Amino acid sequence: MNKKVVILGGGESGTGAARLAQKNGLEVWLSDFGKIKSDFKQRLENSQIAYEEERHSWDKIKDASLIVKSPGIPKTAEILKKIEEEGIEIVSEIEFASRFTEKPIIAITGSNGKTTTTSLIAHMLEKAGLKVGLGGNIGHSFADLVVKDDFDYYVLEISSFQLDDIVHFAPHIAIILNITPDHLDEYDYDIMQYAKAKFKISQNQKAEDFLIWFEDDQILQKLTHEISFQATSIPFSLEKENETAYADDENIYIKYPDPFSMKVEDLALQGSHNTANSLAAAVNGNILKLRKQIIKDSLSDFEAVEHRMETVLTIHGMKFINDSKATNVNATYYALKSMKTPVVWIMGGKDKGNDYESLFPLIEQNVKAIVCLGAENSKPMSEFGKKVPVIVSTDNMKDAVRSAYMLGKPGDTVLLSPACASFDLFENYEQRGKMFKNEIKLL
Ligand code: ADP
Repeated sequence: MNKKVVILGGGESGTGAARLAQKNGLEVWLSDFGKIKSDFKQRLENSQIAYEEERHSWDKIKDASLIVKSPGIPKTAEILKKIEEEGIEIVSEIEFASRFTEKPIIAITGSNGKTTTTSLIAHMLEKAGLKVGLGGNIGHSFADLVVKDDFDYYVLEISSFQLDDIVHFAPHIAIILNITPDHLDEYDYDIMQYAKAKFKISQNQKAEDFLIWFEDDQILQKLTHEISFQATSIPFSLEKENETAYADDENIYIKYPDPFSMKVEDLALQGSHNTANSLAAAVNGNILKLRKQIIKDSLSDFEAVEHRMETVLTIHGMKFINDSKATNVNATYYALKSMKTPVVWIMGGKDKGNDYESLFPLIEQNVKAIVCLGAENSKPMSEFGKKVPVIVSTDNMKDAVRSAYMLGKPGDTVLLSPACASFDLFENYEQRGKMFKNEIKLL
């Protein structure tokens, strides 16, 4: 039988899948319609894997027995239609990788909080002495980790794009943190279509598996009623008591399988969104039967991931927080909600059709001044102009940080939580966050 595997896409996922295919004795060839970054080319060349870039040569693709598609390739790409017409099987990189490992998978998805919760769970398992393969949508691709496959558990951050073409991918524990509008352009602006894509994480789970999900999320409530799944259902809530995991203002309570509680003030990650993330991580640890002390210690000594509500410095009594990763309204909602002092709020950037209404009460309550930071600020200037005493427009980080500094006074917090993507002025949210931190140090 012809065992040729063609990998589409030469990024982290594609090069990982190519190395995994090669290790398993399959003939492999990689094709990228764009340019391949030099470090990925190097990786392919080191492994002597043949590839092409800036085109898809059909004659080399059409005789494949399997196509592995990287998550970055849009569903509408011409080449995918052609492959479908030819009747060749297409799978996603995580599906492909899962065929080469028997190790249990913990998979985390949702609109916001994936990186935070994935890193927190990996930290907990490592503290318990387990060997963790941490990756997926962050760091190493799943396929790249499976090349070695010497882990006790895989802890994977999974985006909805990665779930699009799964067939058998079945995590032992799946976590869905929340579902709020993001990337809707890829799902015909239909939130239920996007939500169902995320829910696929549970489609192959068996009765001995677990689905941990956020009970306060209306869309998840609807989906868990409408779609049948075999895994044990483990809802977690910030609003009401249940038999699995919940929190009130003082404590988190883990009820399943083995009850314990912990003070919210002892959690390393503050703010109600982070209490939700900590609940998910705690109940996951309890299901895995980790020692309670280890679960508690890891929830209280975890260090925040860069660019996510990261405290940078306190200057003249003003605390600066970098939440550059807040690229949508929901993430910013939780950032503003967690503020306990008056706030000078730096926001703006590439607007993805944002609806800011949910932020209005929080702005009226806490925000004393707004600094808009974007190539085009007319929308936030008009939407927020009447809600705060002061609003200014800037188009570079230096001016934004200096304006915020001038507008604040001791006891205030300067919060960068843009609610928008960064591409209008920056390469990505990491660059935006790094420039923010640099400008603060120059004050
Ligand atoms: P993701 O990997 O899903 O993008 P991150 O952990 O990188 O999530 O966090 C992205 C943004 O969302 C940050 O601004 C963070 O403070 C915020 N956030 C984290 N957890 C949650 C949550 N459970 N609900 C809403 N926002 C969250």
